This record gives sequence, C-alpha cells and structure tokens, in this order.
Amino acid sequence: MEKRFIVPYDQTLDSNFYMCRGCRTHIALIKDSILTHKRFGAVLLKHADNLVIENPEDYVDIVCITVAFVYCGECTMYLGWKCVDIVDGPSDLFQEGKIALYL
Ligand SMILES: [Zn+2]
Repeated sequence: MEKRFIVPYDQTLDSNFYMCRGCRTHIALIKDSILTHKRFGAVLLKHADNLVIENPEDYVDIVCITVAFVYCGECTMYLGWKCVDIVDGPSDLFQEGKIALYL
C-alpha cells in the first residue's frame, strides 16, 4: 500500500461527510452513500476518497465477490472493503467499485 495525497472536503454548513474514526480524515460524502446498515454499522458507497486499497495479490474471495480491504489514507486504520470483481455479474446492490465502510 502506498500513502496517497489527502483531499479535504469543503466544510460548509450544508456539507455532510464521513470521516475516519481514527484521525478524522475526510473519507466520503454522505450524498454518495447507497445504503446504511445500522445493525452492522456499515455504509455502502458509490465513491470515497482518501483511501488506500490493498494490492491485488491480497484480494479476498467472499462467496461470489472479490474484495480488497481499504484503509485510511492518512493513518492506515482498517475502514472496510471495496468490491473489485463479481463472479455472477453485478447485482442491484453490489457492483465493481462499490465501497463498504464500517462506521
Ligand atoms: Zn485515519
């Protein structure tokens, strides 16, 4: 994993975004969330910033999807995973590029 340049979001009264729970780096805009699962404390996003994604040799196959674990680009805390491949084709919910973060 290589560290990335950190992109801060504009902080205005009407901007809402998720931050890393470890260092408060801006991670994703709430408007980019697709689904929030309160029981699992997770949110599914179509886009996120300031993440580092593990190398392809470390991808993990879970049932019919392949995921890459994602970490904060600033403090490298584990934050969730990104869908990198779907075996049976994309579903309505899981598609390549979608990111699940644990809040
Ligand atoms: Zn962090």
